[in-house]
Amino acid sequence: MSYKVTLIPGDGTGPEIMETVKNVVDSLGVGIEWETVEAGVDVMQKYGTPLPNEVLESIRRTKIAIKGPITTPIGTGFRSVNVALRKELDLYVCLRPCISYPGVRSRYQNIDLVIVRENTEDLYAGIEWPIDAPESKEVIKLSKNKIRPDSAISIKPISRTGSARIVRFAFEYALKHKRKKVTAVTKANIMKCTDGLFFDVAREIAKEYEGKIEYEERLIDNMCMQLVQKPELYDVICLPNLYGDILSDLCAGLIGGLGVAPGANFGDDIALFEAIHGSAPKYAGKNKVNPSACLLSAKLMLDYLKEYEAAQTLDQAIRNVFSKGKDVTYDMKPTPTDPTAVGTREMGEAIIREIKVLSKAAVRS
Ligand code: NAD
Repeated sequence: MSYKVTLIPGDGTGPEIMETVKNVVDSLGVGIEWETVEAGVDVMQKYGTPLPNEVLESIRRTKIAIKGPITTPIGTGFRSVNVALRKELDLYVCLRPCISYPGVRSRYQNIDLVIVRENTEDLYAGIEWPIDAPESKEVIKLSKNKIRPDSAISIKPISRTGSARIVRFAFEYALKHKRKKVTAVTKANIMKCTDGLFFDVAREIAKEYEGKIEYEERLIDNMCMQLVQKPELYDVICLPNLYGDILSDLCAGLIGGLGVAPGANFGDDIALFEAIHGSAPKYAGKNKVNPSACLLSAKLMLDYLKEYEAAQTLDQAIRNVFSKGKDVTYDMKPTPTDPTAVGTREMGEAIIREIKVLSKAAVRS
């Protein structure tokens, strides 16, 4: 079977990572035809926008994309391309599995958590006004002076529809992947209307899964402490956008850092795969950063395509390279200045070598 997949190299360290991803996935022989399209700060001059239309058109056509990280320029007026992609394509689920891999240095072992983050609303909705804007003044007036007159305003919308579809995804994911529990997380003791609604909706949906999947609630501050102290108590964690963003990084820290933390965004019929980490611009062009998070995102993509054997081979090949600890990038060595660290490309080549060994063994057996 062959597939058309949109590939967005991104900017900063994105292009070198995605070149490696492409080579590694090609070595699995799944028959992916890549449709490469450009987005990010490097193409702003050429297209007048960091998100050219052809990127969206390509993804709408192929329905499946994998992307490298993209820089969000500060103070240029451009909103985040990453957020724009999720909104434009209504990719309302951000799925971030956080699994400990042997050989990856971390204070924790045997972590097995899945973050299900709402991706389209909350404080990410992009409804905000600067200090002294007429809209800010209007809201300040509406607040009956509870808000200081010299305030900038960001609006946090949480809808019944948005909450219901993310919570349902979390429960369906738990069922499909034989998970036991969904924990909904908010700060509903303070944000009674918005976060309160998220909990109300989660409780209603949880009833439909009674006897099959356990449901519980936590407040975000307590959840941060609990995850650091007793991560083994948690399973699938479902959150509104901002808490999900922050908790994803916390969980990435539990499994050894951003270099090994993959992710996926889903809408009803479109999927976009990307790592949690950003474009790490200070390492751009240096063949330095870890391609594993994007490769593990590619593994999620292969699972989505139901190419389970290839997904399994890729996962095992990455595990083998991690366990050997030789052909790995600086972030996986005992110290970041370890002279034996290899580059992005060389780590990818080591993974390809493992894939070849695994494929030969599979043919023999
Ligand atoms: P970042 O994740 O790019 O980098 C922070 C640090 O983490 C790096 O300096 C590096 O030390 C380490 N790191 C990140 N990725 C790594 C990898 N693959 N291997 C090894 N080490 C790695 O975060 P930042 O500096 O806050 O963000 C840089 C830019 O990326 C910003 O413009 C931000 O908006 C953007 N960003 C994009 C995405 C995305 O494309 N989905 C996600 C997060 C941030």
